[in-house]
Amino acid sequence: MPLNIAMDGPVGAGKSSIADAVAKKMGILHLDTGAMYRAVGVSAMRKGIDPSDEGDVTEMCRAIRMDVSYADDGQHTFVDGEDLTGMIRTEQASMAASKVATYSGVREEMVHAQQRMAQEHDMLVDGRDIGTRVLPHADIKIYITASPEVRAKRRYLQLSETGKLNGADYETVLRDLIARDEQDMNRKTDPLRKADDAVEIDTSNLTFEESVKAILELVEERKMQHV
Ligand code: C5P
Repeated sequence: MPLNIAMDGPVGAGKSSIADAVAKKMGILHLDTGAMYRAVGVSAMRKGIDPSDEGDVTEMCRAIRMDVSYADDGQHTFVDGEDLTGMIRTEQASMAASKVATYSGVREEMVHAQQRMAQEHDMLVDGRDIGTRVLPHADIKIYITASPEVRAKRRYLQLSETGKLNGADYETVLRDLIARDEQDMNRKTDPLRKADDAVEIDTSNLTFEESVKAILELVEERKMQHV
């Protein structure tokens, strides 16, 4: 049985970069499931499908093929053989992803694809519903969180450093983040919540290195309990 680590939490808690560093240190793959929902949202927009149209988006999602592969710079996400990695990190893609992720037909497709990958590899999987839905029997479950203000500040810095702010100020980023939290936590299918058996780590007052260290220690501790 491959080793599976589930990592969930709201936007901007630092999940993806922390997950990347932890997986690298452990020598296992990191599956960023948010990238998959982003790729669905971006694909819809590129095909002229309104992300708010549940029927059309679900139909498209069933028809496309999604693959991920790993390069030196991390995960690449492909739709029908086309690498969309460079297009999925804008605010527009974030909002489209959060919208299409509310559709149960879309989630069904993504969850099955994620389960297949996790069955084949030692993997750290990060997302919103990993511990509760995708990998309910994961070896280790972690829930990463931080206050909305700290998360918005980090997100703002990240967007400005990568030139993806598109004129948005901190207040807009905070507002979008709270709107996405709302959408993620209140959707009918697989809403974001901490699994009962997940360990919660609040990164509000932790540096990136401290967060990575805390998780690696937790993983070691759990591994010791398993021998
Ligand atoms: O993690 P990231 O911000 O890239 O995810 C983009 C959006 O995809 C989230 O706002 C969330 O709505 C959705 N998502 C999800 N389930 C996952 C991963 C992401 O609903 N497992």
